Amino acid sequence: MPGNEVIGKEEFEEIQDIFQNGSVLFRSGFDNLRNNRYKVKKFENDFALFMSVENALAVSSGTAALRVALAALDISEGDEVITQSFTFVATVEAIVESRATPVICNINKSLNMDPDNLKDLINPRTKAVIAVHMLGVPANIKEIKKICDNNNIFLIEDTAWGCGGSVNNKKLGTFGDIGTYSFDFAKTITTGEGGMLVFKDKKVFEKASAWHDHGHENNPSVPRWADTRQSSGFNYRMTELQGAVGIAQLKKLSHVIENQRLNKFLIKNELEKIDDITFRDIPSGSYETADALIFFLDSKERAINCREELLKQGLGTKILPEAYTWHFAATWTHIKEIFQENPKLVDDLNPSKDILSKAVSVPIGVNMNKNVPEYIKNAVLKTIH
Ligand SMILES: *Cc1c(COP(=O)(O)O)cnc(C)c1O
Repeated sequence: MPGNEVIGKEEFEEIQDIFQNGSVLFRSGFDNLRNNRYKVKKFENDFALFMSVENALAVSSGTAALRVALAALDISEGDEVITQSFTFVATVEAIVESRATPVICNINKSLNMDPDNLKDLINPRTKAVIAVHMLGVPANIKEIKKICDNNNIFLIEDTAWGCGGSVNNKKLGTFGDIGTYSFDFAKTITTGEGGMLVFKDKKVFEKASAWHDHGHENNPSVPRWADTRQSSGFNYRMTELQGAVGIAQLKKLSHVIENQRLNKFLIKNELEKIDDITFRDIPSGSYETADALIFFLDSKERAINCREELLKQGLGTKILPEAYTWHFAATWTHIKEIFQENPKLVDDLNPSKDILSKAVSVPIGVNMNKNVPEYIKNAVLKTIH
């Protein structure tokens, strides 16, 4: 558990600052009441600075961020959007919600999008790719970006698990046209619920900003009730309460990641003493957020046994192997749209299934009991027969 472990007086003071200065909980307007407190605006500015980009837009969740991204790029009915088999359902739900067709790409042993399979799936209807930096490890983003550029396709990075990570010192979320982030309670930093987008192109930012707020352009020359608009939109606004918490959490992001990286290193160090386990591939130049450590055992049965052993030691796993159904597209028979265009999708995703079913994911936190690496090693050793 990452950002939620470090919630403390800084978050409380940011919230208190709102209530001591007019109690305006809405991100814009009410200027005469709020004593110049604009928490969401400040969170966006701080976030943009941290990511070294010009424009960031805060929204109500990471799922909303994906939906707004697709709207800002004009993606709709008849368009195909490719994402990966191992992600959270939200990535695909956002595509379905935008009325585009979701196309599912296999992963490789990095547990992120397989660039070779991506090339095979691109066709004239493909408008965008959503690459996910799943569970803290960067996608093979340079290669994916090259493929998108060569085919004139938009690239969105679902950075829900990669906030603060980078490749060759360039922050995740800033390689593509839009990067999206989640601040739900399990993510690297949290605002309870919340999300963010960063943009390459200012025009796309402006469109996203209006679309997430019913089309409001927040034209400074007129009051909000007389605001100008060019399109309809929806309401995915972040509240000032979330913005306040976000300001305090962002200041702790580097601390969270540094601790997680250290703890992950300590656990991996122990596990490397075991002969027959292998680890997830990490693209070169990666700076991981280290929200999880994923390793492979030689069978599905052993992966499940390993979870049982970890539970006996009072430790848990994170998503793999137990919650794989929420994170593997071949199991999402409730989302009929992903099977409509490709009835043999389940078979096509067998390479992903092979990889995922042997994987065990250990959650990494900011705080760790010093015995944990040893306990995890012992749990894995007990699965050797
Ligand atoms: C958490 C998550 C989301 C959705 O974010 P919410 O803030 O929970 O809506 C999207 N994609 C991935 C990969 C996630 O892990």
